Amino acid sequence: MLKFRNTLSGRIEEFRPLNEGEVRFYYCGPTVWDYGHIGNFRSAVAADIVRRYLKFKGYKVTHVMNITDVEDRIIAKSQEAGLGIDDYTAKYIDALWEDADALGCERPDIIPRATRHIPEMVSLIEKLLVTNHAYRSDGSIYYRIASFPEYGKLSKINFAGNIAGASERVDTDKYEKEDARDFALWKEPASETEPAWDTEIGRGRPGWHIECSAMSMKYLGESFDIHAGGIDLVFPHHENEIAQSEGATGKQFVRYWIHFEHLKVEGETMSKSKGNYYTFRDIAAKGFSPAAIRYFLLSVPYNKQLNFTFDALAGAEKTVAGLRDFRARLSEAKTEPGSNDALHEAAQRALSEFEAAMDDDLNTSVALAVVHNLSREVNTALARKQVKVENQRELLEVIDRIDTVLNIFGKSQREMLDSEVQAMLDDRQEARRRRDFGRADEIRRELAERGIILEDTKDGVRWKRK
Ligand code: AMP
Ligand code: ZN
Repeated sequence: MLKFRNTLSGRIEEFRPLNEGEVRFYYCGPTVWDYGHIGNFRSAVAADIVRRYLKFKGYKVTHVMNITDVEDRIIAKSQEAGLGIDDYTAKYIDALWEDADALGCERPDIIPRATRHIPEMVSLIEKLLVTNHAYRSDGSIYYRIASFPEYGKLSKINFAGNIAGASERVDTDKYEKEDARDFALWKEPASETEPAWDTEIGRGRPGWHIECSAMSMKYLGESFDIHAGGIDLVFPHHENEIAQSEGATGKQFVRYWIHFEHLKVEGETMSKSKGNYYTFRDIAAKGFSPAAIRYFLLSVPYNKQLNFTFDALAGAEKTVAGLRDFRARLSEAKTEPGSNDALHEAAQRALSEFEAAMDDDLNTSVALAVVHNLSREVNTALARKQVKVENQRELLEVIDRIDTVLNIFGKSQREMLDSEVQAMLDDRQEARRRRDFGRADEIRRELAERGIILEDTKDGVRWKRK
């Protein structure tokens, strides 16, 4: 039975989706003003685990992740660069996918961009105006927090008094508001050059919070199962999303809120000025493999802070290499027919312990310990030649099943079929015939990454496994 901590109730709860067998899941994605930092990827990998584990449990999952592609930093940076916001963000959106793919994250099913959903946001704001949850002031529109008595139910913050500035992300708008707590739904452009849309509610751009309410409800319905994001989003972002959505629909917006604790670097919050700010790319450029980074990001459960150190990452590198070796040894072992009962039990025990760990608030660190125990036991059995054909098949099945969630074994790198290698070689030959040497080199690199080495000989291309 899957349980996790629901920020809304503050308790560990059993998960039950609204519709039997299906889960609607929204993850607050990145603001694409720069390359993603490793903290962002801690949350992205945690969301990937939520998605993968729900699938492991047999649910059909619809996973939506927004991209915030209009926002103050994006506007400032794009203006500095002399680019429109779309041209500016394109590079970071491409980079996001390269990084997330490298980290073994499955792509969300739907990836709405804020700038492509202005009409949806406008109609939600219109609804809020009609129901008195919103008001105009100058050219902007604000949410009237006094109209939503449940405000604060997620963050449990006591909102008596003036809280503007209580969080980095609270709106400290310069315009007239009825109450300092009120936040902008629609912002009048501050200058002629700022990106803005002409709409039924005036010329302007959306606030950050309205984006997630409008896009999540568009793709997942007015009430859906799980909404996740980093812990920094509880207040004000998610509190505001609840106020907007529930204000407009009168229905419960989200049943389960999951918040991922932050990654810190050597115990401190990352910041460019402290010099402890790392993008995924900075770390990969130091020679760490994406697999080790993923392993490291999983090594502490999402509900605990993760302390990043290069030593820990170096440790993860060795651990992942050891696990991959183990799987390769097991898969390549020459085994005798039959089955060894103790190993059959070990395989089944590992699977059920893995599931128990993940059911228990997605405890990835215990789940990894289960994998390590199994690998130790099987390594010993391999050395003693106790692994039989049946055990080999079953153990590989169990490892691969667990790896549908953890995705640390890099199975595809080991198990590229001869026919797949041949197909890529044919493509490379074809590229060379076209004199497209860039593509040919790319294929060589892709093969190398998957452990296939090419040798150009006078009789043609030969290949071998690393
Ligand atoms: P942002 O681009 O800042 O909107 O963040 C994208 C996602 O990364 C959000 O879900 C944030 O909550 C999350 N996030 C930001 N910083 C960290 C951090 N240091 N550790 C973990 N998650 C983070
Ligand atoms: Zn959001």
